[in-house]
Amino acid sequence: MAVGTVYLIGAGPGDPGLITVRGLDLLRRADVVVYDRLAHPALLQHARADAERVYVGKASAHHAMRQGDINALLVERALRGKSVARLKGGDPVVFGRGGEEAEFCRAAGVPFEFVPGVTSAIAAPTYAGIPVTHRDAASSFAVVTGHERDDRGEAGSRPPGAAEQRRNWANLAHAADTLLFLMGVEALPEISARLQEHGRAGDTPVALVQWGTWPSQRVVTGTLADIVEKVRAAGLTPPAVCVVGDVVKLRPTLQWFDDPITRPLYGKRIVVTRAREQASALSDLLRSRGADPIEFPVIKIAPLPDYADLDAALRNLDRYAWVVLTSVNAVPILRVRLDALALDGRAFHATRIAAIGPATADAIRQHLGLRADFVPTEAVAEAVIAQWPDTDLTGQRVLLPRAREAREILPEQLSARGARVDVIPVYETQTDESAREVFHAQLANGELDVLTFTASSTVHNFAQALGAANADPQADLKSLVGDTLVAAIGPVTADTLRHYGIEPQIVAVEHTIPGLVNAIELHFHEDNLCFDANKPG
Ligand code: SAH
Repeated sequence: MAVGTVYLIGAGPGDPGLITVRGLDLLRRADVVVYDRLAHPALLQHARADAERVYVGKASAHHAMRQGDINALLVERALRGKSVARLKGGDPVVFGRGGEEAEFCRAAGVPFEFVPGVTSAIAAPTYAGIPVTHRDAASSFAVVTGHERDDRGEAGSRPPGAAEQRRNWANLAHAADTLLFLMGVEALPEISARLQEHGRAGDTPVALVQWGTWPSQRVVTGTLADIVEKVRAAGLTPPAVCVVGDVVKLRPTLQWFDDPITRPLYGKRIVVTRAREQASALSDLLRSRGADPIEFPVIKIAPLPDYADLDAALRNLDRYAWVVLTSVNAVPILRVRLDALALDGRAFHATRIAAIGPATADAIRQHLGLRADFVPTEAVAEAVIAQWPDTDLTGQRVLLPRAREAREILPEQLSARGARVDVIPVYETQTDESAREVFHAQLANGELDVLTFTASSTVHNFAQALGAANADPQADLKSLVGDTLVAAIGPVTADTLRHYGIEPQIVAVEHTIPGLVNAIELHFHEDNLCFDANKPG
């Protein structure tokens, strides 16, 4: 058997868009994905449904997989012929031990490739509006380790390497105009003291950028003289990049990612209450405007115990004129069953494919290698019916593999046009109970910024899912919501909220998802402007 390759891939600093095209391509094809906590979890969605996923980076030192075990894992899988994507936060060789993992592969005779990534050393400051060089402020930068625990929680007890021991503060202090310290939060008192001792002025500007490029990015600025106190007061913890130098002064002018004026939804935790199976179009839009969407209820996709009906349908696919896929969730299951039956995309040769929306069409392309023949312009069952290519379906058989609980409109309407529809449940959705408890606590503690409701049904579902609909539903829900802002898509949904004793502060003028997002944005924008107007100066 051929030996697989280990790809040491830079996942970028957090924002899932900051992985390279090559990195993403390899991630999509890998048999095994090995990742830690600095790689954004959303990236994992690109891995094949059947790829083995191994998490090696618990935050606590006790649960961290040791470097030696990680090396052994990479080599072992590759020797079994697997292609291994080793996703590493930022760039794989900037304090990422990519070099060590590659050495280990080489010693074991396993081929490897490096895929450089966008390092947090540069990206986190940039997302904070601090360019690491600037013609007027800095003509050089240096990236330095502060030598605290790394992302696998291997604490300072890890003996410093030879290069770390040679670190010479007298040279470092003047090594470059901009100094970038990684793993420097715990070592901040030492960093600030040593730099001043060796001639950097106490009023040199300093910034710490925590979780740079993530929706939770936080920035604390100060000077070498006061940054330790400011960081302590702010309670800032790792991971953070510490930037020392005049470029920090550019932040007030260049702040963008976390700028409350131009991106009023930045960092806002906005709850998307959804009906079962609802597409997360609202979440996507909120995310694109800088918000941190929180979907509730949190739904788990659970496989079913038995796939006999699906298997029988797949074996006889050429009897079906159409397969209709109404959710991305069904697609990987089809792939797994096809594999189990030793079939592949050719089984669809006589069958046309309808996908409810572009996300499902993408999943079909990725998992099955097939192109959907029909995708309606709007990802809802009504649009599938309205835009269906043929009006007369007499005698045609249609396969509809979907969730166990789903609306009946598709099978009913297709049957009404003469089709014979086989509805086959292929997964079920379950509420994630532990997530429900976490959500309950966040809501009670006022940690959420806005609750959104896109239909009356989402109000009822929300009340029910929260278990508020017990003794006195109105009072329960009202007290739980407390001071959290509530946004409704329109007057009907607003009335349903009032029925529960909740007065929405935001009601969209245009009753669409974009209309709702605009209304929320406007609310915060006005808030920020008022706030600024009251500021002295
Ligand atoms: N290879 C990584 C660095 C790994 S060392 C890279 O190129 O970015 C781990 C350190 O990286 C953390 O302690 C922190 O200093 C920094 N870091 C990684 N991701 C970060 C992020 N999103 N925001 C701020 N600092 C980050």
